Amino acid sequence: MSKDYYSVLGIDRTSNEEQIKKAYKKLALKYHPDRNKNDKKAEEKFKEINEAYQVLGDQEKKSQYDTFGTVNPGAGGGGFSSGFPGGFPDLDDLINDFFGGGRSNSRRSRRENSQYKGRDLRFDVSISFDEAVKGIKKNISLRRARTYKVCKACNGTGELNYSQGMFSVSRTCGSCGGAGAFADDTENKKLEVKIPAGVDNGTRLRMSGEGDAGINNGPNGDLYIDITVEDHPFFKREDENILCEVPVSISNAVLGGRIEIPTLEGTSDLKIPAGVQPGQLMRLKGKGIKILNRESYGDLYVKLNIVIPKTVNSKQKKLLEEYQVEVEKDSKNPFSEYINKVKEFFE
Ligand SMILES: [Zn+2]
Repeated sequence: MSKDYYSVLGIDRTSNEEQIKKAYKKLALKYHPDRNKNDKKAEEKFKEINEAYQVLGDQEKKSQYDTFGTVNPGAGGGGFSSGFPGGFPDLDDLINDFFGGGRSNSRRSRRENSQYKGRDLRFDVSISFDEAVKGIKKNISLRRARTYKVCKACNGTGELNYSQGMFSVSRTCGSCGGAGAFADDTENKKLEVKIPAGVDNGTRLRMSGEGDAGINNGPNGDLYIDITVEDHPFFKREDENILCEVPVSISNAVLGGRIEIPTLEGTSDLKIPAGVQPGQLMRLKGKGIKILNRESYGDLYVKLNIVIPKTVNSKQKKLLEEYQVEVEKDSKNPFSEYINKVKEFFE
């Protein structure tokens, strides 16, 4: 064996799992290449620390090392390497881990006098089906930052550095919660949102510059309006087309006729041709929903539900029996060909 992994981590052989982990993290933070740019010695040290921890931090490899003073690279799932095939362990992850999390990975460093765009805000608006079809103006009220300042406590970095023993560590700035800036004056803002005709459930509208104020007079953030559209009692929407189911009597289905149907504008007279079938769709072109930001419309589909009476009175029964004699008894069974085949099969 060449290296004493215990002395690399600055611990003794009686150290437990927790102590080994702690020792590794302290050293890894200190020698991390992100904190020691162009320092070859630190990089070597960092590699050594990681190599030591890959053995001592793994129960199986540790006991092998303790017994034989070495680790067979083929044992325990591929052994270890002193290089970093997947790149260095991330510094932020190490810090995060070390302090038990709670830090934002997207922390930005902000300089005190620079300008930054304000935060984007989001607002939910619920509208009826008809409002979505026709478009509507809605008044909303939201709380937003009127002025936004870089945090002086951390100079916009979102973290505070301090020394602990031989090394420097950092923790999230308590004044700004790690954001690097904070709103120091807010306002209740009333806005009129113009919702255009044709919006759908989940449509997102953007109101430029209506978000939080920018930092140091930087541009304002934007406001995003997320639309929820309520269901309609009898229209179903599929993009710009709508579907509506209407009841049709047997005589109308057989003989044809006219029925009144609901449309987005009110009602309309629909001509039913003779001989329509259950579930048949009829299309009313251009009677659907306006396509968002265009001057064209979808279609209205009418699904014909042919209603079969559950009961009939004696007169109706008589008429149907006449129909039966006249139309069905003398007619050829439409399944006769099929029935003959079944009979042949079982003969
Ligand atoms: Zn701060």
